[in-house]
Amino acid sequence: MSTPNVAVIGSLNMDIVVETRLIPQIGETLLGERVRFIPGGKGANQAVAAARLGAVTSMIGAVGADAFGDELLAALSREGVDISGVKRLPDASTGVASIYVAEGDNSIVVVPGANDRVSPADIDQHLDKLKQADIVLLQLEIPVETVLYAARTAKSLGKQVILNPAPARELPQELYGHIDYLTPNRTELGRYAGMESETTRTSTGDFLRSAMRRLKDLGAAQVVTTLGADGSAYLDEAGEVRPVKGHAVSVVDTTGAGDCFNAALATALAQGEGLEAAIRFASLASALAVTKFGAQAGMPTADEVRQFAA
Ligand code: ADP
Repeated sequence: MSTPNVAVIGSLNMDIVVETRLIPQIGETLLGERVRFIPGGKGANQAVAAARLGAVTSMIGAVGADAFGDELLAALSREGVDISGVKRLPDASTGVASIYVAEGDNSIVVVPGANDRVSPADIDQHLDKLKQADIVLLQLEIPVETVLYAARTAKSLGKQVILNPAPARELPQELYGHIDYLTPNRTELGRYAGMESETTRTSTGDFLRSAMRRLKDLGAAQVVTTLGADGSAYLDEAGEVRPVKGHAVSVVDTTGAGDCFNAALATALAQGEGLEAAIRFASLASALAVTKFGAQAGMPTADEVRQFAA
């Protein structure tokens, strides 16, 4: 099989995780226990995962000209991701997620910063990356206008497109028609299908069948829904739900599970695998990802997935 080539267009963030005994009230100052700086952003997480899984991986995105930008780019470079498509903006901050964690509760403020400035012009400027790719991998932490432009451009070049529609946002109808694989989690599936109230009320099989059919009717060629520890599911040609089982593991940190799943799906499809086989590979990879701490740090290599499968 040829070496898979994946182009990721999306976000880079620094997650600042502050552990504290209490979440501060308005006007209150507290002493925290610990702070960690963890590279994140769905785009960067997926790029790291694809590279570790053996894909030639390029990233298009943006950071600020600050120390976090330096660190995020260095982290991607160390993994072998081609970062020549990530621009540095002198007048924007690198994307940051500021997270307070207090005994299981958390509160989060996300400042997209440079991520909000990834534009259609960036796609045109790095068209070579799309041309070289077998598959283009998108999420929704950059402007939707850019996601639409990227998907449309990728399809016009004859490339496959995966959209991981997270976090859930309003999507233009046209976008669905450019998507080969739409990969919501269960909650996102409910939101996009307009069936939020049925997400938990209806039996899983009935909910998945109606909701995924609805997204196909909107224009997505295929829908793959991730279901946490329960694995994932897709629709077969007859429109029936095909479940793919998850793998029982000791969970350490589920951050980035979906990112790993998407990157693994992209890598396997880019390698020429069929959908069912690609989903099985993604289930193995993402189960391994939750056994380690950190979204990017916890992404498995292709060898680790092979050993786990054996
Ligand atoms: P997201 O992180 O986007 O909400 P999910 O929680 O559905 O997505 O997880 C994505 C994939 O990661 C699942 O389809 C599954 O393969 C794997 N996964 C997630 N949580 C677990 C878990 N507790 N045990 C095993 N695999 C898991």
